[in-house]
Amino acid sequence: MTDKQKIIVIGNGMVGHKFLQNLVDTNQVDKFDISVLCEEPRVAYDRVQLSAYFSAKSAQDLTLVSEGFFENNNICVKLNCQAIEIDRGAKTVLTQTGEKLNYDKLVLATGSAPFVPPIPGHDRPHCHLYRTIEDLEAIKASARLGKVGVVIGGGLLGLEAAKALNDLGLQTHVVEFASRLMAVQLDDAAGALLKEKIQKLGVTVHTSKNVQRILDGGQSVHKLEFAGGDALEADIVVFGAGIRPRVTLASNSGLVLGPNGGIKINTHCQTSDPAIYAIGECAALNGKVFGLVAPGYLMAKVAAQSLSQSGYAQFKGSHTSTKLKLLGVDVASIGDCHARTEGAVVYSYLDGAQQTYKKIVLDQDQSRIIGAVMVGDASDYQNLLQMALNKSALPAQPESLILPVIKAVKESLSAALSDKTQICACYEVSKATIRRAVQDGAKTLQDVKSATKASTGCGGCSDLVSDILTQELASVKAPAKAAKPVKVFDPASVADSTKICFCAKVTKGQISQAVQGGAKNIDDIKEATKAVTGCTGCKVKVQKIIEHELKNIERNPTPQALPDISRNDRVCFCQMVSKGEICDAIQAGARDLGAIKQTTYASTSCGGCTDKVVEIMETKLEEIVEGVS
Ligand SMILES: Cc1cc2nc3c(=O)[nH]c(=O)nc-3n(C[C@H](O)[C@H](O)[C@H](O)COP(=O)(O)OP(=O)(O)OC[C@H]3O[C@@H](n4cnc5c(N)ncnc54)[C@H](O)[C@@H]3O)c2cc1C
Repeated sequence: MTDKQKIIVIGNGMVGHKFLQNLVDTNQVDKFDISVLCEEPRVAYDRVQLSAYFSAKSAQDLTLVSEGFFENNNICVKLNCQAIEIDRGAKTVLTQTGEKLNYDKLVLATGSAPFVPPIPGHDRPHCHLYRTIEDLEAIKASARLGKVGVVIGGGLLGLEAAKALNDLGLQTHVVEFASRLMAVQLDDAAGALLKEKIQKLGVTVHTSKNVQRILDGGQSVHKLEFAGGDALEADIVVFGAGIRPRVTLASNSGLVLGPNGGIKINTHCQTSDPAIYAIGECAALNGKVFGLVAPGYLMAKVAAQSLSQSGYAQFKGSHTSTKLKLLGVDVASIGDCHARTEGAVVYSYLDGAQQTYKKIVLDQDQSRIIGAVMVGDASDYQNLLQMALNKSALPAQPESLILPVIKAVKESLSAALSDKTQICACYEVSKATIRRAVQDGAKTLQDVKSATKASTGCGGCSDLVSDILTQELASVKAPAKAAKPVKVFDPASVADSTKICFCAKVTKGQISQAVQGGAKNIDDIKEATKAVTGCTGCKVKVQKIIEHELKNIERNPTPQALPDISRNDRVCFCQMVSKGEICDAIQAGARDLGAIKQTTYASTSCGGCTDKVVEIMETKLEEIVEGVS
């Protein structure tokens, strides 16, 4: 018998496994007696790379589980073991083999299931899903017997399945209910271009088609009948019409669901029953489900910290922008790509010769990017995404971001990203971490991947990681000649510890302090800090900091203990930690920077926030000593 808390994790998919990995990595695993129920016949594998199973990769290549992981960490994993009932009163889980397991805490990581439209004939032989290695095995077996394949659904999943059928040598069709491909992510122009490009590759696309039923075919195994009377024959049908969160277990046990499906969670990933967490594609925060792996990984970290009481990270949602190569065509979509925001301003560029389409959507003030679409060339995806996420200032001619002629501006964009910018959302890797890896000897993309894990999740950031690698290699080789990025200096996005005047080694914090002490212009600053002695290069930056600081003083004339940071304000951008989380950690016992780092992860990536974290810590500790809170 053990008095350890019992955790049951239902689902050993990408996110369920990440949860376990987090407990192991933070040395929390020994606190618990953990059982994992895994419905599939194998432990977690890289579902994002599922299609690679058709080409180079074996099931073993795709595994996410290192050798001895479960044994070494005393985690009991049960394969082919579906959970069929949760009794929340008795705190038990019943498996389909009849076993009843007790839990203190339960983690639901049941993922999603492919959506199968309820059309008659959907369950005929040689009709398949596209979610697991077993689905791919079945498709492979059917493909050996047939010549024509059809995918129902022209979204991300459908087009990925179509590529697989095409690669298997089948004459391939895609049938889409909407009037364009990827209706959620693309506008009409982009959808039309994608269709044209895909058709050129030999895949026939049928848009605005509503499949009414599937019956016996004449020439082929099946006949798909469309509303309107026409039909299409095929030997294999694959459903790629989207996904639905798997919530039956949760809803049968009375857990509250989100309005659009998904198990309702709070920012700690707890469901309506505090003893039960939900993470990954089965969970819904504020009514939104997240069908991508990066938000799932964040949830896994948050749940592991919350459940083991080892940290205060919160899941506050995530962007669902995507970049993919579909049938060899680069496609990307960011934020409000349909320009639905009131007053949104659109710039678009269609290059008929190169068959590329790019669009950026700006906010009403035309001060920042709120959406973008790219087809045929998505090389600007990461730059535009980071500009959108960081609300970066735009160049004077925003169209230069998508027009091919003004290349210099674009090339400088990745260089202009600040060190704290998160480059890999799956593994939360900042630009600084990648640069450090290169400085420590990484020379290839593979080296950077091994050193930082960047680009080993969904792979969407690989172009940007390569850009940073190239830039850093160049500056490591020839530091004196390193190209200066064209960068719009924004005082608000610069840490207090950043050196503004390298001659006099004066930081932004010192200049801010001088302004708070009464300095109003460059001469005053010169007097107070010697910042502009020796060079004139920093004058513009110093002037901007003065203006920024004076505005802050105007807005907040009586500075509090921690000026311009409220509880909800983010302090560590790499690890997404707010001031409130740091204060809570200190309140709960963290008394030095090391302890704060360990519990919140703040300041563990680029380190740019260290001064701010220390400042918060000192103020909070003073408050505690004085008994303020
Ligand atoms: C072909 C394909 C391509 C993709 N490409 C991308 C991409 O490019 N980028 C991206 O971000 N995402 C992509 N995704 C989505 C990504 O794979 C998912 O976001 C991720 O796998 C979600 O992880 P999860 O653990 O929530 O769900 P899953 O990985 O689906 O794991 C859930 C697990 O729970 C098990 N389970 C469910 N119910 C029970 C039960 N009652 N008892 C026991 N076990 C149960 C399931 O069998 C499954 O193994 C892709 C998905 C597919 C299918």
